[in-house]
Amino acid sequence: MSNPTFIILLGAPGAGKGTQAQILKDKFGLAHISSGDLFRENVSKQTPLGKLAKSYMDKGELVPDDVTIQMVMERISRPDCEKGVVFDGFPRTAAQAKALDEALAKEQKKIGAVLLVKVRDEVLVERLTARWTCPNCGSVYNRLSSPPKVDNKCDKDGNDLIQRDDDKPETVKNRLNVYYKNTAPLIDFYRTAGLLVEINGELAIDQVQAEIVQTVERL
Ligand code: AMP
Repeated sequence: MSNPTFIILLGAPGAGKGTQAQILKDKFGLAHISSGDLFRENVSKQTPLGKLAKSYMDKGELVPDDVTIQMVMERISRPDCEKGVVFDGFPRTAAQAKALDEALAKEQKKIGAVLLVKVRDEVLVERLTARWTCPNCGSVYNRLSSPPKVDNKCDKDGNDLIQRDDDKPETVKNRLNVYYKNTAPLIDFYRTAGLLVEINGELAIDQVQAEIVQTVERL
């Protein structure tokens, strides 16, 4: 793997980008930048950015490009990103993709690969609506694939689990529509750039991981 390595995980909400990003972070020592997590941190701290973002997130809409780009650019400038970054949930629009390319080019850096994690819609809807989170420690459970030991309670701290507002069924449908309209066009953009690698995201987590790790090791 060449250094530094910048990898984008592309795919619909629920494709498993967060899980795979965490694995890449641990295995290769990359920084993990999840724009969704950055927004959620701001929402929970009730910052002005968080208040703005929440109004979009609750509906499953995208937060406007200018604020999203500014937030991610600030994050990329921190020292832990020097070895490389795995981006999860960013970029999601053509403007964000362009801003990222330009920011990296300014530092003589570039994207190493864009991994498209492919999962069918019906599987995405099933996964997203089954996702429950601990509001205290952030642990994520899935009622289908990784349920908590005691129904609806966090294994780590016993708190009641909650469903993210944006994982509720109506919002999930809107998030998928938004993905197909705004983010899916990036697939062709990165394919044309010769960076796209397609990954079958419906396999078991460790099989998906193996494919992704092999791809990153070849970079
Ligand atoms: P995620 O956890 O990545 O599914 O993101 C949750 C929500 O945060 C999305 O539905 C959007 O409202 C917002 N969000 C996250 N990343 C972006 C982005 N790159 N551009 C715009 N909005 C975003």
